[in-house]
Amino acid sequence: MATQTVLQKLEILADAAKYDASCASSGTAKRTSMGGKGIGSTEGMGICHAYAPDGRCISLLKILLTNHCVFDCHYCVNRKSSNVARARFTPQEVVDLTLSFYRRNYIEGLFLSSGIVKNSNHTMEQLVEVARILREEHDFRGYIHLKTIPEADAEIVHQAGLYADRVSINVELPTDSGLTRLAPDKDARQIEGAMGRVKSDISELKDARKRFKHAPRFAPAGQSTQMIVGADAATDADIVGKASRLYDNFRLRRVYYSAFSPIPDASAVLPLKRPPLIREHRLYQSDWLMRFYGYKPAEVMQATEADGNLPLDIDPKLAWALKFREQFPIDVNRATKEQLLRVPGLGVKAVGKILASRRHRNLRLDDVARLTLSVTKVRPFICTVDWRPVMLTDRADLRSLLAPKTEQLELFTA
Ligand code: SF4
Repeated sequence: MATQTVLQKLEILADAAKYDASCASSGTAKRTSMGGKGIGSTEGMGICHAYAPDGRCISLLKILLTNHCVFDCHYCVNRKSSNVARARFTPQEVVDLTLSFYRRNYIEGLFLSSGIVKNSNHTMEQLVEVARILREEHDFRGYIHLKTIPEADAEIVHQAGLYADRVSINVELPTDSGLTRLAPDKDARQIEGAMGRVKSDISELKDARKRFKHAPRFAPAGQSTQMIVGADAATDADIVGKASRLYDNFRLRRVYYSAFSPIPDASAVLPLKRPPLIREHRLYQSDWLMRFYGYKPAEVMQATEADGNLPLDIDPKLAWALKFREQFPIDVNRATKEQLLRVPGLGVKAVGKILASRRHRNLRLDDVARLTLSVTKVRPFICTVDWRPVMLTDRADLRSLLAPKTEQLELFTA
């Protein structure tokens, strides 16, 4: 085979990494080179991202070390039996690319994943070596996210956490049966075992840093995971349940949902069509309800329809409110923060502003309208000094009144 240039490898390995959704980089420790030492910085408020048209984050250098893989996960374009062009970087090549992109201001950090070449330990060592060279030899202070391989030895995964800002281990599929069927080389217990060890390392070293100033940092931006949606029969209720268990058991910073997309040379056991992207969006909204709006997983599941999936035409918060209309209307001048967070159309910021403003005066409907994108959506669920919805929440057609109108695209407009 002809020797590939770094550019040719980059083309293959950046393209192969695009299926990974879990690359947001917020929440790490502040680290800068402003004092003239080292190169790069992370900011306490997180790093800004650009997003590709399909919604993937692209401001980090997001690549695979290699797309060779000895595993054969059915849903993966890089699986052993897939007929794709292959490439492999050396750790030094990834380091050189990261530094040169960084110096040209193209990127603010590195997101590095890999297919499994030779075996899990060898691959994990190579990933760690990239981060080690960047941190130790170049004093790189930018953001590093390493995908870790649950089948690798715990000590090597531990090393990854000592160099990276964030580590992630993919659970891959929402159910164990889906994993067994679609990723026969992977094992759910092994994956969760590795996540458990990362969780312990994070909290042990966080405690150590409170007592010893020079104790090492371990993955200061925490750990995350990714689930593929729509490749197996798991419902949204299954996915919400799995995500909430993962948040509880492993204190994850994020669960990412990635709508399965059909790949070239797809295996016959996969669905032919991708699930609608809006399904992924609804799952992210349900995730936010659990993390920022105080909904219990069981309550999010109550928003699903008879088939166990969230409605696609309305968001899960509105779906819940329509099912539990007896809890509304809510008086914005008296309700608790928790009650206000349940009002469709009111976000966390708007609720904060309502709570602050009502200390000084009673709010009118106009005041609330200024805090929301659509007062039409909020009106049926609230009371103000000058507004009380009469029988509005009882209307049978309320859902259709509030669902966003779908627009027919004009094919022949000039
Ligand atoms: S181990 Fe990772 S890269 Fe290899 S086939 Fe499975 S999902 Fe793809």
